[in-house]
Formats: sequence, structure tokens, C-alpha cells
Amino acid sequence: MKQEQDYTNGSHIWEDSELFQESAKGVIKAAEELGLSDELIDRLIQPRRALVVTLPVRMDNGDVRFFDGYRVQHSMTLGPAKGGIRYHPDSTLSETAALAMLMTYKCSLFSLPLGGAKGAVRCDSMALSDREKQALTRRYCSEIHSFIGPDRDIPAPDIGTDAQVMAWFMDTYSFEKGHAVPGVVTGKPVEIGGSLGRLEATGRGVIYTIIETAKHLDMELNQDTTIVINGFGNVGSVSASKAKKLGCKVIAVSDVKGGLYNPNGLNITDVQNYVKENTFLEGYKEADYITNDELIELETDIFIPASVSGIVTKDNADRVKAKIIAEGANGPLTRDADIILRDKNVTIIPDILANAGGVTVSYFEYVQDLQNMFWSEKDVNNKLWNTVSETVQRVFHESQRRKTDLRTAAFMVGIQRVIKAFTWRGTFP
Ligand code: NAD
Repeated sequence: MKQEQDYTNGSHIWEDSELFQESAKGVIKAAEELGLSDELIDRLIQPRRALVVTLPVRMDNGDVRFFDGYRVQHSMTLGPAKGGIRYHPDSTLSETAALAMLMTYKCSLFSLPLGGAKGAVRCDSMALSDREKQALTRRYCSEIHSFIGPDRDIPAPDIGTDAQVMAWFMDTYSFEKGHAVPGVVTGKPVEIGGSLGRLEATGRGVIYTIIETAKHLDMELNQDTTIVINGFGNVGSVSASKAKKLGCKVIAVSDVKGGLYNPNGLNITDVQNYVKENTFLEGYKEADYITNDELIELETDIFIPASVSGIVTKDNADRVKAKIIAEGANGPLTRDADIILRDKNVTIIPDILANAGGVTVSYFEYVQDLQNMFWSEKDVNNKLWNTVSETVQRVFHESQRRKTDLRTAAFMVGIQRVIKAFTWRGTFP
């Protein structure tokens, strides 16, 4: 049996974050259930390579500030590496490596011809002006441009980044190359090679996985089904509006400062409009203002954590009352929390399954860019639905066949494809 401390004793620079250790444990559990050797398990966990950069940015007050940036390529065995860029003050090399590892198994689980990567800049994106954010993005792209590209590594949006950031990134990369290279990033505006449906793809995918899971559980989704969402950015707010469209009742949503609770259901369009004007949920009148701790403990059928990692831990897992948890965020439950919740018979749709709608449509965007031929939104959404529903079924099947939980089953499906590719390609030299 693989010693857990091999991946948690800080002997490699990537290993010091909780998210890396937690993610590695998930991969080890699945790999052990598949009977893989220690050598292969090492290969499944360690990232292939990483670049660390320092970004000088002239701020609006005239001072130059230096920001740390990272790009980690975990695996390129199945194809070019793929993964978002996060702008967050707590980002570290280790957290970025963990997120890159999750991307490898997410892409593999969804049968995409892509490996896993992630990027981050340690900054508070909300505190930057548009000019500062543009300068930071262009400098970051310029520093990492020789490390990435449509055939090597393709970034996308994540926390704190959006279509505008991708547009600046694509423009800078194209400038370095001397011609437009739309395929270097996904999640771009439609006018410069983005895909219809990409903006909403992650939240849409979260709801598709809930629909398929509810079928497996014989659970009806209707106007009495309550939903609580932590995080009201791209993933959380789209999940909320799609849940509402499905006819469910979204009773609470939150952002970094706090949450809104209305047991009769929130008017999501109204809340979205309020956030557009006021940035945060605070001050919205048609609901009670609650803390994130209170929100996590609300009585609800479905809970969607859609913010940062480690939101549910051993300290609050026991008080979570949801029947289904769909992990919109990456790594929102610690491993201890995961065990406590499974003991309480909560169905957990793991991150690499629940939030893969984003990377799936990013792949569609990449294909459209390469072909210079663009699809209708209906086509994109239909293809997304087919991919998500087939993958959820594959994971439930694997879980039943192997008598294991959905997270382990999802990793097992993802790992097996990577292992087959390793075997075909062999070890160089
Ligand atoms: P975002 O920046 O658009 O939104 C993040 C939201 O979370 C904001 O509302 C913010 O206020 C809130 N938040 C931050 N810290 C919080 C905390 N401690 N408690 C409660 N709320 C908090 O980011 P996003 O793109 O929606 O990403 C959210 C999560 O989904 C991340 O874990 C990301 O890795 C994951 N994800 C995103 C995509 C994508 O396509 N954007 C794809 C797959 C996974």
C-alpha cells in the first residue's frame, strides 16, 4: 500500500498546499483500487513541468508592484495541456499544481484529447483597475508565451479572470507571433474566435450532472426542490439561473462577503442585475443577509459549492443537510468532509465530473478555432448535453461495478485512459 506521507511531507515543492495533498489522496485511492504500481502512481501525481514568473506592473498611482505568476503543466500525454488562469491573492505554486492535476483527470474522464494545466497570478483582481489588470495580463502572457500555445498548452478563464482577460491574453500572444492566434486561449469573446455557449458552459454542465444524477437516484426535480449555492461568480450565478429555469427553487446564494437567503426562492435575474450594479450581494433587499457559514448549513435538497477550495471541512461537514452536493468549484470539500458526508448518505458529484462543462465547451471552442468554422449555440449545448450525460452514466456504472464512491469512480475512469496512453507511448528515453 502506498504510504500517504510520500505525497504530504513536502519533499517536492508542489506538495505543501492542502489542495495538493487532498487531490493526491483522491488519485492514490483510485489508483490503488485499480491495482497500479507505486511507480505509476508517482507518475500520475507529479506535474510534468512548471514556470514561475515575476510580473512588474505600473500601478495607477505610478508605483511599480511585482506579482508572482505560475503556469503548471501536469500532463501532456493525451494532447496539449489545458486549464484556466486564476487571479487570486492566495494562489500558490502548489495549489496551481493541484488544480493542474485535477485538469488531467477531468479531460481524460470526458475523453477529450487534452492534458492538464493551470495558471495563476497572486493578486486581488477586484482591487485592480481595468488598466492595471490589462497590464498584468499582458506581462503574464509575455512571460509565459514560449511555454504555451495551441499545440502545447491552452489557458482559459477561472476565478478572477473572464472573457476580457482572455482577449488581452490572445492579443498579446498574437502580437508576439505576428498574426492572430485565436486557438491559444478559450473562453474568448465570440467576436475573436470564442464559442457560443462557453460563457455559460460550466454552470450549465453543473445542472446537467444534477439532472442525470437525480435520474439515477429516482429523485424528481420540481418547484419544491431547493438549491443553495456558495459563490455567485461565473459558475455560481449561471448554475442558479439554469436551476431556476429547470423549475427548482434557489433559496440561497453567496459571494466572498456573505449570502442571501429567501426560503420562498430568490429572483435570480433580479439578483444578477443587482450584482452587476453593486458588485456584491450585500444590500439586496428581497432576502435576509446571512454569513457563508450559515448558508453552508441550510436545510436544502441540493448544495452547489461554486467558489474556492476547502469550503466544507471536518468542522462543518456534519452540519451540511443537503441530499446532493454538486462540486461546481474545484476541491470544495476536504477529504475528511467527503468521508463524513458519504457516511451521511449524501450523493457527492465530484468536481472533475460536475464542473467539466467548461473544459468540454473550451475543447469545442478550440476545435472551431482550428477549423475556422463556428457552430450554433444549440449545437454546442446539444453536444455538451450528450457528453455530460454519457460521462455521468459511465461514472455511475464504474461506481456500481467497482462498489466505490463517485469521486473514486470518476478518477478511475480518468486514470485508466491516461495509463493506456502512457503504455502506448512508453517512457523516454
Ligand atoms: P468567479 O471569479 O467568477 O467567481 C467566484 C465567486 O466566488 C465570486 O462570487 C466570489 O465573491 C466568490 N467567493 C470567493 N471566495 C469565497 C468564499 N470564501 N466564500 C464564498 N464565496 C466566495 O470564479 P468562477 O469562474 O465562477 O469559479 C468558481 C469555481 O469554479 C472555482 O473553484 C473554479 O476553479 C471553478 N471552475 C470554474 C470554471 C469556469 O469555467 N469559470 C470551470 C471549472 C471550474
